[in-house]
Amino acid sequence: LIRDADIVIIGSGFSGAVIAERCSTELGLKSVILDRRAHAGGNSYSEIDPDTGIEVHKYGAHLFHTSNSEVWSYINRFTEFTDYKHRVLSAYQDKIYAMPINLLTISQFFGKFMTPESAMALIAEQRGEMAGKTPRNLEEKAISLIGRPLYEAFIRGYTMKQWQTDPRDLPENIITRLPVRTDFNTRYFEDRFEGLPVNGYAAIFERMLASDKIEVVLDTDFFDLRSQIEAMGKLVFYTGPLDRFYDYRFGALGWRTVDFERDVIGTKDFQGAPVINYADEDIPYTRILEFRHMHPERNYQTEKTVIFREYSRAAESKDEPYYPIGRSVDKDRYDQYRALAAAEENVVFGGRLGTYRYLDMHQAIGAALSIFDRTIKPRLTQPEQVSGRKVAAYS
Ligand code: FAD
Ligand code: UDP
Repeated sequence: LIRDADIVIIGSGFSGAVIAERCSTELGLKSVILDRRAHAGGNSYSEIDPDTGIEVHKYGAHLFHTSNSEVWSYINRFTEFTDYKHRVLSAYQDKIYAMPINLLTISQFFGKFMTPESAMALIAEQRGEMAGKTPRNLEEKAISLIGRPLYEAFIRGYTMKQWQTDPRDLPENIITRLPVRTDFNTRYFEDRFEGLPVNGYAAIFERMLASDKIEVVLDTDFFDLRSQIEAMGKLVFYTGPLDRFYDYRFGALGWRTVDFERDVIGTKDFQGAPVINYADEDIPYTRILEFRHMHPERNYQTEKTVIFREYSRAAESKDEPYYPIGRSVDKDRYDQYRALAAAEENVVFGGRLGTYRYLDMHQAIGAALSIFDRTIKPRLTQPEQVSGRKVAAYS
């Protein structure tokens, strides 16, 4: 199989699937995808829960949203989307609030009906301690956005649980992902396009990978075949962990993993919402997912429901790496690995694990489309022009 392939792709998540799909559809070329898991789709994979018939996202809630119209029209070739719009609640000290922080949260928290103007004035006062200072970490950034009381209620405990790192030691950019609003918009995302795949995520991958020019080989670890693949001189698109590729020679990159505790409960509706965050530090999980609420359009049975409690911790070598931690030691190590990666003759690195970046699905798809155009396609179609120093694509 591999001998026949034009490209060998490591990982069948969105990054790998886009490259395989483009190589077959646009170039008519053959790919082999290796994945060490028993299914294609990477972390975006979903399946039907055997006890309840409810679609669960095996690696945590995956909500599709993007403002990138190229990515939106690309993904719409493989699925239709429902009109699902994600909303989240946050429980704190036995009360329930709207999340991300918006005028409803602020009104609820301070116990009075506020207008955008009065809320802004209050927050301006509460973030006064950061006035004129440049935030240097997540805590300072959060306080500069919302002030200390809201930070301590909704961000500090949750972030401590999620990252097991003091927010003063975390980069500020983690929190900039979470919007803060002074209107009553309670939607979680602000992107132009949002929805869930009508027939689930697994069906997207089946369609993306349906061509007979694409072979997906599951339960297979690249590192068991690496020397044969290298000896054949094949072009490799690698979306596994970057540090593993180099046998951790500069040290392991820090990742956070998530443990999901699945529970089937004999009730129609456990919590009345798809996701409830738990902000208190002494509640060990960060959130509870109830998947039936992600597809209200489906006629699920009403006797039982399935929930996942989500627990977060630092990943050890045997764990699934989920979120790059990005401490300064990680950044230094990443720079060293990246320099090696850029000098590779036959390997192109991509995806969340291969580039040590938190990528949402739409970003993984967008990045893979661009890697295809800039790097993979020229190498496969005009190899003579990109042979020798193939680093060009990185510089
Ligand atoms: P992955 O999906 O991780 O795929 C990598 C694949 O490579 C895996 O299948 C793995 O088995 C395989 N692999 C690794 N090493 C090897 C090896 N040595 N040999 C063979 N195969 C190997 N994005 C959103 O847009 N919305 C969300 O709501 C959202 N929620 C998320 C929640 C969680 C808990 C997590 C962890 C991520 C979430 N994401 C979300 C991000 C989303 O999962 C990623 O954008 C997407 O998975 C990236 O695809 P990828 O192909 O780069 O990586
Ligand atoms: N966050 C928080 N409280 C919440 C939700 C999020 O403090 O109720 C912070 C936390 O630091 C988290 C970051 O905001 O890591 C980004 O949140 P997001 O919901 O994007 O995290 P994800 O869903 O990717 O785990």
